[in-house]
Amino acid sequence: MTERYWIETLGCPKNQVDSDKLVGTLVVDGFEAADSPEDADLVVVNTCAFIEAARQESIDTVLELADTRKDGARLVVTGCMAERYGDELAEALPEIDLVAPFGASLLASAPSKPPSGSTPVTLGSKPAPAATIPDFDLLNLPRPHSSAPWSYIKVAEGCDRNCGFCAIPSFRGKQRSRSTESILAEVDQLGGSDGTLAEVVLVAQDLSSFALDRSTGRTEPRIDGPAVGGNRPIVDLVAAVSARVRWTRLLYLYPSTLDDALVEAILATGVPYFDLSLQHVSRPMLKRMRRWGEGERFLERIRSIRAAEPTAAFRSSFIVGYPGETEADHDHLLAWIEEAQLDWVGFFPFSNEAGTYAADLDDQVDSDLVTERIRECTELQDAITARRRDLLIGSTIEVLVDAPGEARSYREAPEIDGIVTVPSHLAVGSFFEVVVTDSDGPDLTAVPVGDGPNDGGALAAAATATGTATATATGTGER
Ligand code: SF4
Repeated sequence: MTERYWIETLGCPKNQVDSDKLVGTLVVDGFEAADSPEDADLVVVNTCAFIEAARQESIDTVLELADTRKDGARLVVTGCMAERYGDELAEALPEIDLVAPFGASLLASAPSKPPSGSTPVTLGSKPAPAATIPDFDLLNLPRPHSSAPWSYIKVAEGCDRNCGFCAIPSFRGKQRSRSTESILAEVDQLGGSDGTLAEVVLVAQDLSSFALDRSTGRTEPRIDGPAVGGNRPIVDLVAAVSARVRWTRLLYLYPSTLDDALVEAILATGVPYFDLSLQHVSRPMLKRMRRWGEGERFLERIRSIRAAEPTAAFRSSFIVGYPGETEADHDHLLAWIEEAQLDWVGFFPFSNEAGTYAADLDDQVDSDLVTERIRECTELQDAITARRRDLLIGSTIEVLVDAPGEARSYREAPEIDGIVTVPSHLAVGSFFEVVVTDSDGPDLTAVPVGDGPNDGGALAAAATATGTATATATGTGER
């Protein structure tokens, strides 16, 4: 009888891409998608280790699935926690049958589940240090056709930066970018070539540095200078992807590499959406974070983009309570948020990650104070987001229908931002002109203009593609 799998995905969109690729390998191995985790012979948890809350969510998920799986089903843990804490996980959770670091088979060496009450065995081996990681890559594995009209495409793994709070380079390794050819082949395979894929969302740890690891000098273009010819492979990639699909969206843009050439390339796609990875606006804080820039330069860039495209949408994320963050730094952040009027913002409490530069810094901020500061930031931003959404009432916008009754315009990234509720008869996978009739916090309600889709329904076929047995939780993932 054919064995069936279930993959539970936690964390960020980059993890979702890895899960899709794991599905590809399982299908090649003869597995079928299960309808639920309780029906699966193989239950996989693709974990997130971004911050403490994400790790706890991963562990809770593993324990819950261990309880609900059917008799004899194997439980495999992979992803960032498996990579970073493999031995500890295996020791602490005897419920796990296999800890599989990046690139390891989910099947090959899975030992049998120990009988109840037996001595827990160490199932994983300590992951190799980052310097020896390069062999890994799920990046170039085959991937099943997307069940949605949009798809994430991961274009690089790892990161060359050294942000004070971040452990990712230590276990994901240095940046290794895919070839443009393999990325475009994946876009085509997912529906770019037959017109059934409506949107590609490009992701990487540091997307705007795509392929700089493959250039000789790893020269970083500067926001305040013209792009030097030939050192912006991300610009060429965006243009090439955009020629294949209707919408191309970019996530995770480090501010120093968002230069004029990249802004122009993004605007040329027709998706004026800018996901700026800012983390703070106070110069002393950013220096302590070992990151580029400061608030006024960020505002200048946002103003210049708005001058070119007044309807551009912006997202960013900030870390609150980084060691040494003073009341003045916090007030600076609040004032900046009010000034910037971004559409979407995520706030994350500083998480002390072992082995990072920030772990040993003085002046750690009291957790109650961090909670209070996040509350202030969130209240302020929620009001800004709601106000900006109210302003759209009465306007006509184009939306892509993701699921029955649920759509998005270019202003909303899938699974991250708000949604546009539309009548449920609108064909999934098609674009429609709609009039916004109401707003509720981050979400909008809209009704169609005219009878048919903008694209004649050509994209609706994507909605009928075979589904994959995966679930995603993005609540505490990296932003
Ligand atoms: S925060 Fe982002 S850019 Fe900085 S080191 Fe981590 S992955 Fe790289």
